[in-house]
Amino acid sequence: MMKDEERLEAKTRIQKAVDARNDELRGLALRIHANPELAFQEHQAVRWLTEPLKEAGFTVETGIAGLATAFKASWSGKAGGPAIALVAEYDALPEIGHACGHNLIGTAAVGAALALKDAFPDLPGTIEVYGSPAEEEGGGKIIMCEQGVFDQVAAAMLCHPREADMVMRGGIACVDAKFKFYGKASHASSSPEAGISALDALVNSYVAINGLRQFFKPDVKIHGVVSNGGIAPNIVPDYCEANFYIRAATVKDLEGVKQKVYTAVEHCSLAVGGRCEIVEGMTYAERMDNKRMADLFKDNLGLMGIQVAAPTENGAVGSSDMGNVGQVTPIIHPYFNIGEVKPHTPEFQAAAGSEAGLAGLNRAAKAMAMTAFDLCADPDALRQVREEFEQWKTRQSI
Ligand SMILES: [Zn+2]
Ligand SMILES: [Zn+2]
Repeated sequence: MMKDEERLEAKTRIQKAVDARNDELRGLALRIHANPELAFQEHQAVRWLTEPLKEAGFTVETGIAGLATAFKASWSGKAGGPAIALVAEYDALPEIGHACGHNLIGTAAVGAALALKDAFPDLPGTIEVYGSPAEEEGGGKIIMCEQGVFDQVAAAMLCHPREADMVMRGGIACVDAKFKFYGKASHASSSPEAGISALDALVNSYVAINGLRQFFKPDVKIHGVVSNGGIAPNIVPDYCEANFYIRAATVKDLEGVKQKVYTAVEHCSLAVGGRCEIVEGMTYAERMDNKRMADLFKDNLGLMGIQVAAPTENGAVGSSDMGNVGQVTPIIHPYFNIGEVKPHTPEFQAAAGSEAGLAGLNRAAKAMAMTAFDLCADPDALRQVREEFEQWKTRQSI
């Protein structure tokens, strides 16, 4: 068992190791920031993130889970210890670049892994960096989970930039659904009676979904856009399309919500004499942070003099494919402060490449590395983390 002073000395060593890599990490984060790549096209980011890992002696495998821009980098100090996953993201958003700061997420995971190996060549465990593409669109981690990528991982973590330092801020389940409405084309003025309007089916569906809202739990969120509203006013639209995201607290809750929405859409289509095809995309599972692991992370922030803020209330949360990883292994998804900015805005994009963003990256890498160290060096802590996870899984399956 490690004494308190030994533990503190170890943490100091880890922080110094991150600082020693600080220039390199800043350069890496800025380079990805300046070259945003969309979902599943993050080839440069993968090359830049894996280069220093290879140089440091990590075993790097790219193209895992059948995804060209996914990777796994691993290194073992002493054999026989647990495998701790540091999860990287690096995809950008269309038009506004790194407005979710995934350049910082990827670099923090890599920085933490490098610092751990620098500081503790004989670490009693294995550090695995998982590069996960397409968080914003495409659910890279969902595919990785389906391929069993995280099955042997003892615990996993990912740090996300935000406007505050937070732990235990969860996420809700989400599914994306495409509604394809089919009608019949006709001249809208000379022979409207021969037509069936796919647009009417769509508009009625939109209104029907709005009418359903009152009859869902308050944490249900449904939002959609019209991606195809017809061709010309004088042609009765024979095809229209809408994209919706349907969210609920859990995947279990989502089932009932989905069925009500789908029934409404199908009936609205039948009502105008048309039909609807529903194409369901991936389901992002709810994200539940492991309390014990979050406490370790919080204590490590405390060592750096950082107090965590209370997580946002009233369900002001989104969804992330890290939730799916959390169904397989205990996770935390803490947030680090990069300034008073909201994600998915041009202001956030600027912050993700600012001094505040880079200072946040430094702290995130340190806190992640120290928490991974705790999980390797303190078998009791890891046992508690695992027990909490097993209990949660049992409750979830009832
Ligand atoms: Zn985002
Ligand atoms: Zn994000």
